[in-house]
Amino acid sequence: MAWGGGWGGGHQQGAAMFGGSSPSGLPFGGIPSELMEEATKLLASEPTHVPSQRTFSQQPNPSELQVLTLTQLLKKYPQWVLSGTALVLVISLILQAGPKLTEYAINNGMIPGHHSISVVISCGVLYLLLGLAATFMQRLQVDVTGKLAARVMNDLRIRVFTHLQRLSLNFFTEEKAGVLMSRMTSDIENLQQLVQDGVSQFAIQGLTMIIITIILFTTNVVLAAWTVLLVVPLLFIFSIWFHRASERGYLLSRDRIANVLADLSESLYGIRVVTANNRQRRNILNHRHVVGAYRDANLYTGRVNAIYGPATIMIGILGQGLLLGIGGHMVLAHQLSIGALVAFFLFLNRFFQPIQLLVQQYNLLQQGRSSIIRLRELLQVAPNVDEQHDATTLPVIEGRINFEHVSFGYDPTNLILHDVNLTIAPGESVAFVGPTGAGKSTMAKLANRFYDPTQGRVLVDGIDIKTVTLRSLRSQLGVVPQEPFLFAGSLRSNLSFGRVGVTSEEIEQAVDVVGLGEFVARLPEGLDTIVHERGQTLSAGERQLLALARAFLARPRILILDEATSSLDLHSEKIIERALDRLLEGRSAILIAHRLTTAQRADRIVVIDQGMIIEQGSPAELLASGGAYATMYAAWLESGGRDASRADNSPTSLT
Ligand code: ADP
Repeated sequence: MAWGGGWGGGHQQGAAMFGGSSPSGLPFGGIPSELMEEATKLLASEPTHVPSQRTFSQQPNPSELQVLTLTQLLKKYPQWVLSGTALVLVISLILQAGPKLTEYAINNGMIPGHHSISVVISCGVLYLLLGLAATFMQRLQVDVTGKLAARVMNDLRIRVFTHLQRLSLNFFTEEKAGVLMSRMTSDIENLQQLVQDGVSQFAIQGLTMIIITIILFTTNVVLAAWTVLLVVPLLFIFSIWFHRASERGYLLSRDRIANVLADLSESLYGIRVVTANNRQRRNILNHRHVVGAYRDANLYTGRVNAIYGPATIMIGILGQGLLLGIGGHMVLAHQLSIGALVAFFLFLNRFFQPIQLLVQQYNLLQQGRSSIIRLRELLQVAPNVDEQHDATTLPVIEGRINFEHVSFGYDPTNLILHDVNLTIAPGESVAFVGPTGAGKSTMAKLANRFYDPTQGRVLVDGIDIKTVTLRSLRSQLGVVPQEPFLFAGSLRSNLSFGRVGVTSEEIEQAVDVVGLGEFVARLPEGLDTIVHERGQTLSAGERQLLALARAFLARPRILILDEATSSLDLHSEKIIERALDRLLEGRSAILIAHRLTTAQRADRIVVIDQGMIIEQGSPAELLASGGAYATMYAAWLESGGRDASRADNSPTSLT
């Protein structure tokens, strides 16, 4: 950013800075004076890099709320749309000048009694020039529409992505990531194709047909009526048939190749089972069947193409025969000039191309249309958890959390939590324990406002969290998920993820606090070592410590920690416990405890079962009372201290 602003905004300042007098501190003593002029010129031609002005707010602005249409997207670039349209118009006109020039050259330069070599030559030259002009303009038009499409799609990509950032988590659990990826890629690409080629081609071809029809009718109504009325409907009917048939063939072969691929992948992945059960013969028969169906679909498409191509040629010949007969007769009767007849022939041929192209482009148009409908639907999904219009900023909190008569169900008719009341005091750490599916993570999700309670309220420092901005709430809450996600990038960028403006010293301190100092020191590039998505290159323990360091750096007032269930060696476990102690100092915390050692360290333990709090108190109190927790603890000790909440091994998570 600083570079962009500096270079773009003030190259003169840059030039002055590098003045020939070799300012101290610059490598190679600055720019030599003989190169100064060149350097200044170069700097002057540097493009300006305007720093991005985008901000993010949970509330979309009015323009983002409008229903998505192509016109709405294009409206932002009227100058590009206008110049594109003008070019399309001129190109369509120029392209039709050729036959008219030929007509003129024949009638005024070639017919006996009208010999004129100069007319013929000038028509020829003009033909050439117009051809060149059309080519040039087409280049310009493709350039304009290409740029327009790139800009429009850039806007759309950002708009959809921003929208996704606003949506609530339930949307992402319901919607498959694959579907969203295809919205963001193939649907937007379809639209890009449409804006880039489709619309202008459609316009040019449509205009060409209109212009030709007008020219034909103004040249000779009778002949025009014969040709247009006989040839065009025939061609149209055939083209529509072809369009339908080829689309059917396309769908058929698409479905059938999907079957082939599915069968292939199943057979290959299951090859051991296939071999062990002697199913090879049956597999081959089955594959023969699906491959055969795919072949039939391809044969059908081939047949359709084989009919359409020759049929259009046939219609063309029919038209030409008709023209020759009727037109020739009219020439002999002096009702039509020879030049006009030739022009008719040329125009007739030109009629075919637009129709064929329109048939092809129609698919593009259809795809673009359905893509825009799908994107529109996506953009109209409203977040379940949304900010109120008059949401206030949550002031710096002490960290008191209240659940007041909270009931909740992901599906409101099927409640998971039932009338839960709980107060967590500032600085208090509370461990949730209980069997899998009891609702522990769900409680944590409500505190973070990933979801809103179906009934009741969640308060932070006495303020209903529904009334504050999501940003101000979440900036004071730190979440350590069970499976910490690492983004592709350096360790440093992964650690500073939770807060803007984290300094290097802070990062190093955090790394030391959680006990990762030694690990980082061993890495070839220290904190600048690149880790990969999901942190596959790191051990489970290291990932957890990184997540703790990340939370530590974010300095939340309230910490929500979903303890990882993966079992660690004793050494790593000790380091993590120590890190956790440091992290919890002076913070309110909700710990979803899977190891009862963690629960034992909490100030208070809350036992949750079937969406209800069945027991709570300090670890010592609960053990002494001999209730559910004491039983759980005894069983846990007996099992050798493994995961306490996972009787059935199913994973729980905070997302
Ligand atoms: P715990 O953390 O105690 O293991 P959870 O709070 O994760 O339990 O889950 C409580 C119940 O809610 C379970 O029955 C689970 O299947 C259900 N559940 C959890 N997440 C979702 C979700 N995103 N959509 C629908 N049901 C869910």
